[in-house]
Amino acid sequence: MKPGSFYQDWTKIFIKMKEVSTATLVLFDVDGTLVYSEKRDSQCFARTYEQVYGRPFPSIDWLRYPHVSDTTIFEAVIREHFDREMENDEITRFEEHYLFNLQLQRDENPHLFPEVPGAKAAIDTLLNHPDYLVAVATGGWARSAKLKLRHVGIDPEAFVLIGADERPTREIILNDAITAVKKQTPHFERVVYVGDAIWDVRTTRNLQMDFLGLRLWHDYDFLEKMGVAQVIGNYLDFELFIQKIELATPPSEAIFLV
Ligand SMILES: [Mg+2]
Repeated sequence: MKPGSFYQDWTKIFIKMKEVSTATLVLFDVDGTLVYSEKRDSQCFARTYEQVYGRPFPSIDWLRYPHVSDTTIFEAVIREHFDREMENDEITRFEEHYLFNLQLQRDENPHLFPEVPGAKAAIDTLLNHPDYLVAVATGGWARSAKLKLRHVGIDPEAFVLIGADERPTREIILNDAITAVKKQTPHFERVVYVGDAIWDVRTTRNLQMDFLGLRLWHDYDFLEKMGVAQVIGNYLDFELFIQKIELATPPSEAIFLV
């Protein structure tokens, strides 16, 4: 053995160990997954539109839109009403009104916009856990997501948060979130998305990404019949949540195709 090679070999092994991380990235949706408002925030979006444009908002049944993201929904309604594309800064102007209304309704009735039980504590625990990374990928705009999270005491600056801003599809939103996390932590083994809705199932099935469903009212069959294997109702049992994260798989083909 040449002098010094023992240390060189150990240095190489140590670097290798750091490269092969077994961490799991837990990527959260926001509405219905970390916070909920019983459609009040969706109605706020529609009401803001009516205030700004003086036209009735077509529907808050998001499934009627080509993709479920704030940008795509807004774009589709503008096209439907005015037969034109969005103008520069039009989203920003609308978003200012929307943020004002979101904050106003929270100031008036703070208790109507709670966290999903245990969400804040679960995120805090994950953030301090060596085996997990946390990020948020939402179909809402980033600023509105941050406002909603701050309201329940979740600090949105503590992790990567990617919204629908200039991103037309949820697949792009999720992939951009993963890319942003990789810039900070290049190596992690797995990604699990936590979400509550049909479009979350579709997106993770398209991406073949592990998915954990969350159904606040415990109607687990809603997601199970779409091929989701693991569903929880809240984060109060942290051990169960982690168990489900470990067991999560990509949604299989739906029993009833969606
Ligand atoms: Mg949701």
